[in-house]
Amino acid sequence: MSKKPFVTKAQIEEIAKTYPTPFHIYDESGIRRNVEALKKAFSWNPGFREYFAVKATPNPALIRILKEYGCGVDCSSYTELMMADALGFSGDEIMFSSNATPSGEFSYCKKLNGQMNLDDLTHIDFVEKECGLPETICCRYNPGGYFQIANSIMDHPGDAKYGMTHDQLLEAFQILSKKGVKRFGIHAFLASNTVTNEYYPELAKILFQLAVEVKEKTGVKVSFINLSGGIGIAYRPDQESNDIAVIGEGVHRVYDEILCPADLGDVAIYTELGRFMMGPYGHLITKVLHLKHTYKEYVGVDACAANLMRPAMYGAYHHITVLGKEDAPLDHVYDVTGSLCENNDKFAIDRELPEIAIGDYLAIHDTGAHGYSMGYNYNGRLRSAELLLKEDGSVELIRRAETPKDYFATLDFTGVFDQFE
Ligand SMILES: *Cc1c(COP(=O)(O)O)cnc(C)c1O
Repeated sequence: MSKKPFVTKAQIEEIAKTYPTPFHIYDESGIRRNVEALKKAFSWNPGFREYFAVKATPNPALIRILKEYGCGVDCSSYTELMMADALGFSGDEIMFSSNATPSGEFSYCKKLNGQMNLDDLTHIDFVEKECGLPETICCRYNPGGYFQIANSIMDHPGDAKYGMTHDQLLEAFQILSKKGVKRFGIHAFLASNTVTNEYYPELAKILFQLAVEVKEKTGVKVSFINLSGGIGIAYRPDQESNDIAVIGEGVHRVYDEILCPADLGDVAIYTELGRFMMGPYGHLITKVLHLKHTYKEYVGVDACAANLMRPAMYGAYHHITVLGKEDAPLDHVYDVTGSLCENNDKFAIDRELPEIAIGDYLAIHDTGAHGYSMGYNYNGRLRSAELLLKEDGSVELIRRAETPKDYFATLDFTGVFDQFE
């Protein structure tokens, strides 16, 4: 299977006249079709809601598109709550799933009537002292050990810093109900970027059984179960994408099996997807500046790890298309590099690509989530612009590129940098 970019060389040449590379560009049409499919997959559950994980792509123009479909937001910090606030989210439309939470953030969540997701048993006291407990509280579960589907280990929750143990979670519900909390939820995030239709159903089974146990042992009847993020995307061309309709049906099956007989047939299903909502609908577009022949063949581009950190940080694969050479044979092998003074600043290593020339545009795929948002300013590199390719084919600037003035903004107390724009 090949991966096709959602833009052509001609489109990018036109766009680059106004907005110089590098930039992230997002596909409105793809985002809309995907959120429609997600809603349809869970339409069997009347209370279903997706809370978009803001950290994945914190851009108001994109979050507003999801808001049109009734999505809420999953925030994890003060500034993410501010973004939610500014975009008009409040109450049940907000999940606050934070950890090692600094003071002041639970109060802000409470002010917005958002739903707090407590990462630890000790947070009950922390919240109570800071702002008093709200009516709704969700508790984050960590079963420990490893998380397995059939015979393959998906992840190691026992090594993850998140969530409460089984016994802590039961204790938390007992304490919270005594203290007058009225509405409860359970949350867990046990494996990241899963490319299997089985992850959500397996996770749902664990959480549904836990909800039944919570009801039996504490008398607390949870109102919602939050399956969080973790549905992955096919970064590699040989991977098969998840089928959200199959995933929704898989969760439906265990819901009917476990929750309905336990008189919990009115529990709402929540999701906090980030990567699945935006990942495939973003490209990082970069231009080839240099070709270097030493012990290897290097393609030097105008983007760097400061614009997309995943390859440098996790060795993550991001597919690359040389625009205009979609059908050319992949008969060259290159390392595609940025300009940071860090040898891990490589978008691809030993990648088979068509012959590349200076001036070519590369589309780096699947940068719509955890792409721009993980950006940073190492080596004084500036964050790029973000563009939205609208359904009518026009392009909207949804975040301008940083300028040196932005880079110096937190230093410039005396005006010595005022000369720079
Ligand atoms: C990061 C995160 C998400 C989103 O994860 P994806 O892998 O992007 O789907 C959801 N919930 C929480 C609490 C997270 O930390």
